[in-house]
Amino acid sequence: MTPSRPSRYAIVGDTVFRHPTGRVVRPVLHAATARVFLADPDTAGRLAGEPPSETAGADHDRLLADAGLLVAEDADEPAAIIAAGRAASRDARIRNFVVMPSAYCNMGCGYCGQTHERVTVSGSHREVLAARFDRAANSGRYDALTVRWFGGEPLMAFAVLRDLSDRFIASADAAGVRYAAKVVTNGALLDARKLRALHRARVGTIEVTLDGPAEVHDASRPLKSGGGSFARITAVIAAALDDAEVDGLQFVIRTNVGVHNAGLAEPFSAALADAGLAHDRVHCYPAPVHAWGNDVTDVALARREMAATEMAWLRAYRKFGLRSALLPTARKDVVCVATTRHSEVVAPDGRLYSCTEQPLVPGVSDAHLGRLAEHGPDELRPAGAFDDWYDTVEAGETPCRSCAILPLCGGACPKLWREGQSPCPPLRDNIRQRLDLYAIDAGCVPA
Ligand code: SF4
Ligand code: SF4
Repeated sequence: MTPSRPSRYAIVGDTVFRHPTGRVVRPVLHAATARVFLADPDTAGRLAGEPPSETAGADHDRLLADAGLLVAEDADEPAAIIAAGRAASRDARIRNFVVMPSAYCNMGCGYCGQTHERVTVSGSHREVLAARFDRAANSGRYDALTVRWFGGEPLMAFAVLRDLSDRFIASADAAGVRYAAKVVTNGALLDARKLRALHRARVGTIEVTLDGPAEVHDASRPLKSGGGSFARITAVIAAALDDAEVDGLQFVIRTNVGVHNAGLAEPFSAALADAGLAHDRVHCYPAPVHAWGNDVTDVALARREMAATEMAWLRAYRKFGLRSALLPTARKDVVCVATTRHSEVVAPDGRLYSCTEQPLVPGVSDAHLGRLAEHGPDELRPAGAFDDWYDTVEAGETPCRSCAILPLCGGACPKLWREGQSPCPPLRDNIRQRLDLYAIDAGCVPA
């Protein structure tokens, strides 16, 4: 059937802009390809469901069809997206290991749902994990292996992290597959020496959480030993940006946004800029405080309030020269590690999980998939609770199948859906405002 209707994934901005070239445009996002266009009014109108204009005609429609923006009347676009997710989950060419070297954390954040005990990955677990990694590297099945160091606070077991990194890198190099790593840390233990060691351990990205300007961050994320960490963390990152020995190391600054800091976008952004973090190697994003099985109703913002707050944070980042992404730049075919058996989460006590938010969390930590040592080194992780995610979406058990941003969101969090909570990200509510900000970033002004 001839393409004749707009793709359900064509999202047209509400505002008409004048581009610096003088053209009148409206921003359009094609969620199925994660491409953004500054479209002329005829094109935007057509994609918004208006009839083709006389001046545009059939040639115009053909161009839109070639870009996937017009589709056949009977096209089942969600089915194609879900099928792509299922195939990506099954056929992944990248193997992911999420490794928690320590169950302890040196911070006591009020909204955290984990319990922290002084447990680190034992020597025998390390042997088994290194063997699993080595077999995966040599299987011929993967183009790349990635490791996400996670916690607890992973830097509490820095020696374990370094030891395992050395073994992982040796295996990947010997097998001729790519290796990349990321650390998710509270940042309090970072210093120049550790950053250099992490860089040598091929950690490419360090994600740190800062919850506001110094006094708010230090109150929201207190060190168990007493005292704050904002000034120290920002100073260490700023110094790293001038350290040739960690050249290229990227930093991500996440802010967990709740009622305690929702209105602090500008003072926070100003503090980061003052600290020297308005830099191409530092990327910022706000994330809603969410439940890990614990009750965060006193702390979390309501969904629409969070969407508006997120826009305020994105504007503040821009005002102070901080870098942040406005729109996803790729489809999320595999929503998270829990939906592919080519990923596994290794807890400090040697238990395997599929989901990152089960280990250390009371009430769900029993949902483990056995211990590392119980599984052959060549086996994928055992089947997990969320491996059937694509069937769940296909069956319409969540609203995702009919959602305009399914290709970019993937369904957000299977665990929360199963627990009866809607995990829809703020993007669902503020996507058109983000498109407006995209046009303004491109130099456009409202027409
Ligand atoms: S989680 Fe929400 S925003 Fe994401 S695809 Fe599902 S319905 Fe859409
Ligand atoms: S199911 Fe949710 S909590 Fe678990 S890994 Fe996926 S996104 Fe994270």
